[in-house]
Amino acid sequence: MIFHSFLIKYGEIGIKGKNRYLFEDALVSQLTFSLKPVEGEFEITKEQGRIYVNAKGEYDYDEAMEAMTRVFGVVGVCPMVQVEDQGFEQLSKDVLAYLEQVYPDKNKTFKVNSRRARKNFPLDSQEINMELGGIILDAYPEMKVDVHQPDIMLNIEIRNMINIYSIILPGPGGMPVGTNGKAMLLLSGGIDSPVAGYMIAKRGVQIDAVYFHAPPYTSERAKQKVIDLAKIVARYSGPIHLKIVNFTDIQLYIYDQCPHEELTIIMRRYMMKIAEHFAGEDRCLGLITGESIGQVASQTMQSLAATNEVCTMPVYRPLIGFDKNEIIAVSEKIGTYETSIQPFEDCCTIFVAKHPVTKPNLNIIKKSETKLQEKIDELMKTAIETTETIVVEA
Ligand code: ATP
Ligand code: MG
Repeated sequence: MIFHSFLIKYGEIGIKGKNRYLFEDALVSQLTFSLKPVEGEFEITKEQGRIYVNAKGEYDYDEAMEAMTRVFGVVGVCPMVQVEDQGFEQLSKDVLAYLEQVYPDKNKTFKVNSRRARKNFPLDSQEINMELGGIILDAYPEMKVDVHQPDIMLNIEIRNMINIYSIILPGPGGMPVGTNGKAMLLLSGGIDSPVAGYMIAKRGVQIDAVYFHAPPYTSERAKQKVIDLAKIVARYSGPIHLKIVNFTDIQLYIYDQCPHEELTIIMRRYMMKIAEHFAGEDRCLGLITGESIGQVASQTMQSLAATNEVCTMPVYRPLIGFDKNEIIAVSEKIGTYETSIQPFEDCCTIFVAKHPVTKPNLNIIKKSETKLQEKIDELMKTAIETTETIVVEA
C-alpha cells in the first residue's frame, strides 16, 4: 500500500474563530474513536488548518477508509503520498511513481493542480503545473491534459512536506459529534427512530437513548433488537447510554382505565414524560423521535400536538416530512434496515385498538387521564427507579 497518510477535508465554511477549534478538536476525537477498532496504528495531527491521519506501519486500508468516511464533519478523505522536499527533479520522479502505482491504466485525462503554501520552493504553482504536465506527457504519451473535467485531478501541495493526491472519497458531511450538545432519542425497534437518531447526530449532537420495554408482552429478543440498533447508530454517534424502562405496569394501567381507542396517544404521552425526565437528568437539550406526519394514527397533526403537549423541552423530529421509502433508503445506507425489519413485537403494537383515534381532542384525552390519578405517579416513579442503563458501543 503506497498510502500512509490521509488528508481529511471538512466543510461548514461558516465555522470561524473559537468554534473552528472546537469543531476541529471534536473531529480529531471522533476520527480517533472511529479508527480505534481498525487494524493498525494511526496518528492524527492538526496542522495549518488541516487535519491529517498518518498510518504508522501496516494497516487495513479498506477498513481505515470506511472508518474515516463515516465520521460526521468529514466531507472527504484523500489518501496521499507525502514526500520530503528534495528539489523539483525528485518531485517529478515521485509524481511519476505515484501515477505508475495508482493508475495502472494510463488511458486517462489529467490536470496538475499545485499549490505552493511554502514560498521558498523555487517554482511557483503555475510553473509546477506546466513543468509537471510536460514531464507526465513525455513519460505517458497515452495520457492527455483536460483542464475542465480531468479523470485525474493531480493535487500537489508544497507544504513542510509535499502532498501528492488525486483520490477523494466522500464523507457524510454534517458536524462532528460533540459540537452541539446532547439529546435523548426515543429508540424503538422500528425503522424510523434509528434513522432519526442518526440524522440528529449528524448535526454534531451527542445521543442518549430510551427504550420502553413491556415484558412479558415484549420479549427479551425485542429488547436485544433495540440494543443491536443502538450499536449500529453508535458506529456514527459514539457510545450511547441506553435506558431501558419497564413500561408494562403503566401500559396495563392505562389499558384498564382509559378508552382503548385513546390508548396509544395516552401511552405516548407518558413515554414522552418519562423520556423528558431522563433527558433532564442527563443534561440533554431536547428529545428526538422518528415521527413523520400522517404515517400512522398516532402521527397525525392532532396526535402529534397531543403528544407534544406534555413536553417543555424541544422535540426534534427529523423525519417529519419524509415518506417511508425515503426513510428506508437512509436506514439501508446506514445499515439499520436489516435489523429493524426483524419481526419482534413492539410495545406500541400489542395493545393497539382496532380503531384508534386519529384526531384526538386534547381536552378529552386529559379527561381520560384523570382516571389514572390514583396510581400513575407511583407507577411512573417505580418505572424511573427500576430503569436499567447500559452503555452501548459500536
Ligand atoms: P419506529 O420505526 O421508530 O418504531 P413507528 O412508525 O413504529 O416508528 P410509532 O410506534 O408511532 O412509530 O412511534 C413513534 C416514535 O415514538 C418512534 O419513532 C420512537 O421515537 C418513539 N417510540 C415508539 N415506541 C417506542 C418504544 N417502545 N421505546 C422508545 N421509543 C418509542
Ligand atoms: Mg415503532
